[in-house]
Amino acid sequence: MSSTQPGASRPGAAGKTALTNVRVFDGQQLRPPATVVIEADRIGADPAGATVLDGDGGVLLPGLIDAHVHVRDRGTLERLARLGVTTVLDMANPSPALVDSLRGVPGLTALRSAGTPALAPGCLHARMLVTDERAQIKHADQAGQFVADRVAEGSDYIKIVIGSPGADHDQATVDALVAAAHEHGKQAVAHASSYAAVAKAQQAGVDVLTHVPLDQALDEASVARMAADGRILIPTLTMMETLVSRLGLPAASYAAARGSVAAAYRAGVPILAGTDANADAGSPAAVSHGDSLHHELELLVDAGLTSLDALRAATVLPARYFALQDRGVAGPGRRADLVLIDGDPLQDIRATRRLRRVWCGGIGHELAD
Ligand SMILES: [Zn+2]
Repeated sequence: MSSTQPGASRPGAAGKTALTNVRVFDGQQLRPPATVVIEADRIGADPAGATVLDGDGGVLLPGLIDAHVHVRDRGTLERLARLGVTTVLDMANPSPALVDSLRGVPGLTALRSAGTPALAPGCLHARMLVTDERAQIKHADQAGQFVADRVAEGSDYIKIVIGSPGADHDQATVDALVAAAHEHGKQAVAHASSYAAVAKAQQAGVDVLTHVPLDQALDEASVARMAADGRILIPTLTMMETLVSRLGLPAASYAAARGSVAAAYRAGVPILAGTDANADAGSPAAVSHGDSLHHELELLVDAGLTSLDALRAATVLPARYFALQDRGVAGPGRRADLVLIDGDPLQDIRATRRLRRVWCGGIGHELAD
């Protein structure tokens, strides 16, 4: 797959494109064929004076959202855009300056970021994910300053790594980090890939859990608590599958991960599509950006989600739970983040891979085999 540079297929002279004969996914169903207007960076309503582009009966989705990635360069955002992923939530990044430089670039995938995560000194992630001293929280007393620093740097939410091999935060430290995040009006997102880590995160009242246990599937009591507390789950099945298949961890089971998603879904826990895509040098579990989100949708369906709920997990729900009010739905006034595909993803989720064209903030990306 190749593409022209972003900007090469801007809307016509009037700055307006009328995309005709497309079936829009409205968050619940596919609408009958209609016209969608792209006006500058927004979805418009009036096709008068627009350059017409025949959608030829294709399906038009809101741009897909990957709720767990790691981004280190601009090329990654270009790749994500070409593959239909128009917003990503970065879940740990060593450089606030880098994040700032990647925010709001016209035509590229939009980025939100946790920035520096809260790591226990000596844990595996402190040697791998972000090695900066600033990330290391030794004691609950440091939580307030840590969160204040992240807020000053522009972090969109606070990431706390719990249960990383080698060393871990005590309960009081996790409690203090979550309380500090909430004092600043920020969501607390917990990395938790073991049963015990999920319990610690839930005890502290985190808003979002990411990953799912590889040692033991979440049980009914655990998912019932998640649902009752309004907690969100970003399971990253793609990463769990990668860890099990590539690293061959002795106590790790993909069946546990899949079972946790099935249990959480049955309990009514909102599930968001996230991949943990990363291209970090030395990562033991690199996952490619963009195509991995299409794979994640397939894994969510395999774990029991309907195709509709898998699609919502990458559109409506991340927009709702991460306060991205201007996207997640392809309607007038929203950001013109759009994905035109062949085939009906409500019948077969693999249709999201059949990309014909992507718009990121109204700027088109041509696709070709
Ligand atoms: Zn991650």
